[in-house]
Amino acid sequence: MFKNLILVLNCGSSSIKFAIINPINGNKIIKGLTEYKKKKCIIKWEINNNFIYKKKINIIYSNYKILNLIFLNILFKNKKIFKKISAIGHRIVHGGEFFSNSIIINDKVINSIKESILFATLHNKEHLIGIYKSFKLIPYFFKKNIAVFDTAFHQSIPKKAFLYALPYSLYTKYKIRRYGAHGLSYKYITLKTAEFLNKNIKTLNIIICHLGNGCSISAIKNGKCIDTSMGLTPLEGLIMGTRCGDIDPSIIFYLYNNLGIKIKKIIKILNKESGLLGLSELTNDCRYIEKNYFKNKQLKLAIDIFCYKLSKYIGSYSILMGNHLDAIVFTGGIGENSILIRKLTINSLNILNFKISSILNKNIYNTKFGIITKSNSRIALVIPSNEELIIAKDVYNLINHI
Ligand code: AMP
Repeated sequence: MFKNLILVLNCGSSSIKFAIINPINGNKIIKGLTEYKKKKCIIKWEINNNFIYKKKINIIYSNYKILNLIFLNILFKNKKIFKKISAIGHRIVHGGEFFSNSIIINDKVINSIKESILFATLHNKEHLIGIYKSFKLIPYFFKKNIAVFDTAFHQSIPKKAFLYALPYSLYTKYKIRRYGAHGLSYKYITLKTAEFLNKNIKTLNIIICHLGNGCSISAIKNGKCIDTSMGLTPLEGLIMGTRCGDIDPSIIFYLYNNLGIKIKKIIKILNKESGLLGLSELTNDCRYIEKNYFKNKQLKLAIDIFCYKLSKYIGSYSILMGNHLDAIVFTGGIGENSILIRKLTINSLNILNFKISSILNKNIYNTKFGIITKSNSRIALVIPSNEELIIAKDVYNLINHI
């Protein structure tokens, strides 16, 4: 077995994901995640794609305790595999303006992650728990804990695109600006698209639509991100499962001043009760909405608005590309699987010379990848994202100074 396996830890606000990955071929030797159902936490994991093991925990433990179980009952118990781990990659959602690359974790890095907590309160706190836990349980890996940031890929965005037209001091004093999200997915898709199109990444111009529960879009010029739709937080931009995306900020004052809705409730409305769920008045599950698109007017409306907004963003990002746009790429649970959303979006991009191929589009879902447009069209393609692999590769490259 390959000796430089990477342990990837993704301690999030609502789940923990872990994987031991071969960074060269992407094989996941062990992979697992936590799920919460009816006040129970279930840890599911598989080894060599074979067996699915489950462990139910009655009480809702804190992530700190669940991590203990993951290390002691799963990772340490598979001694032969664990011995082959050469480093640990920690996924960190927000690195503020501090990091444009992955970095070995030391006290200074931890302080910077803490300083960025304000912009990703729920996430960064949990990430720190993952870091402390692995320091404690595997002290001999002390200098082999690597922080891999979601925000890093967006640090190439120029000032004209990341600044809001607010008093400038809000940026200089409080660092209020666009940071973006889904950076690991964008990095992976950029590399994969260059490979797929057989193009030098340094001249690759693409627009990537990451459409999952959270949705965002990025403009990649010469292989680097030059704009993205998520902002200071992941609330801005496209319509999402339950998040509203762009709205007139005055709506918030109207809800507060005229309708007397409390700030806490407004935050809930914008984050948890809007988007596809809010518009459909039924669900945020795109599978269900898509299935009933022609049967239910409200569901049709939700998807139509989703696609309208997405194509508006694609149109505006296309003019940032300079002299050529190589492709639009769809990824994320919706991007990889929703034949309807891809069709409706591409159908409104005639002016950019995109022509959907019904046959190709229909055949790409469920981890398949490839082109979904006609041969006389500008290219649109689907590539499944793999954020864990890009973390493993980054960690491997950093440890081996590649
Ligand atoms: P993600 O956050 O990337 O896991 O994506 C989750 C979203 O993908 C949810 O809105 C799902 O409804 C959607 N999704 C998953 N599979 C399909 C499918 N076959 N067709 C349409 N949407 C899907």
